[in-house]
Amino acid sequence: MARLVMKFGGTSVADIDRIRNVARHVKREVDAGHDVAVVVSAMSGTTNQLVGWCEAALKSRQIFDAREYDAVVATGEQITSGLLAITLQDMDINARSWQGWQLPILTSDAHASARILDINGEEIVKRFRERNEVAVIAGFQGLHKETGRITTLGRGGSDTSAVAIAAAIKADRCDIYTDVDGVYTTDPRVVPRARRLEKIAFEEMLELASLGAKVMQVRSVELGMVHRVRIFVRSSFDRPEDIDPHGTPPGTLICDEDEIMEQQTVTGIAFSRDEAQISVRQVDDKPGVAAAIFIPLADANINVDMIVQNVSADGKTTDLTFTVPAADYQRALDVVTKAKPAIGYKRLDSATDVAKISVIGIGMRSHAGVAAQAFRALSERAVNIRAITTSEIKFSLLIDAAFTELAVRTLHSLYDLDQASA
Ligand code: ASP
Ligand code: MG
Repeated sequence: MARLVMKFGGTSVADIDRIRNVARHVKREVDAGHDVAVVVSAMSGTTNQLVGWCEAALKSRQIFDAREYDAVVATGEQITSGLLAITLQDMDINARSWQGWQLPILTSDAHASARILDINGEEIVKRFRERNEVAVIAGFQGLHKETGRITTLGRGGSDTSAVAIAAAIKADRCDIYTDVDGVYTTDPRVVPRARRLEKIAFEEMLELASLGAKVMQVRSVELGMVHRVRIFVRSSFDRPEDIDPHGTPPGTLICDEDEIMEQQTVTGIAFSRDEAQISVRQVDDKPGVAAAIFIPLADANINVDMIVQNVSADGKTTDLTFTVPAADYQRALDVVTKAKPAIGYKRLDSATDVAKISVIGIGMRSHAGVAAQAFRALSERAVNIRAITTSEIKFSLLIDAAFTELAVRTLHSLYDLDQASA
């Protein structure tokens, strides 16, 4: 017997039929004797509609009161948690819904992007024991204790709810049921020979999620890593009755690296076209110049990613290149232009048709020359590299966006990630 958290995303609870399908997944695990806490998202599209209504309600003000935004957007999950409890009861399964404020799930007061501080899982566990009752918990929402107001965790936040609840009730596993059957070596739409990973280490998943893979909210992976919650990403569209609750279904386990026996050097490749490059030409090579560029950008809340600075040849001037999210490109240009007197540069060059390719694997810690192989393979295909950054378990390359697919496919084969036969 195990204790499980089962999390279902918006597409899995999109209508009453699908909610019944979810209930059959839950029934399978309950019948197998497991304790189950379910975490649900809102029906797909619902949260977008709620956000849209908040925006439409404003006529003269620029921004709304985030406390009221949370009061509105938290309702999507209230609906699905109640509906799933009704459906489970209809199938003669003992079930009760829980809103964030009822457990409670205590959060910070950062409305619309609150952080979970503490979860009281006692009542749920007591009911597992005494009544064999399934807990159906509304994801995405919590309670700020001092003000007593409802908070939400940021878009995609029900993944984080699920992992936090798994940690609170000491679940053996947190199953994330979604519309894909696991985590792939790269996006299968770009590389048809992408493989589903059996296992991936927390650190690697964190990089993949941060660098563009959209399987899970980044914060949920962070939380799983801190609390060592084993997370299993699997499909909710398999027929519930076809799955053996004691077997190993298709999916990807996100776990501690010690649990991974055959560690490959490279585990996955992420890419993002939402990047823009700015090069500040001929700045003085002296202390304070980087600060003059990056402090105003930070003040404007612009997230700078790659930074490359040359060592100047003459000791006088140098070039400094960095990337920002494409959405912030124009703002970043404005900020740098405004700071020109303080920075003192000759010229600004920029490009928006760039892409960042990232190669990830904890095996890189103990293998030399992994990036060098990529440089050679890409040069053989005449792909020019604009900027490079590296860390212990990944390296990222900035290239022309037009070469994204070619580069990803080339590197995917290079590191033996292709499926044996496609
Ligand atoms: N319903 C929320 C959203 O759409 C939370 C979630 O689904 O994870 O962002
Ligand atoms: Mg989601």
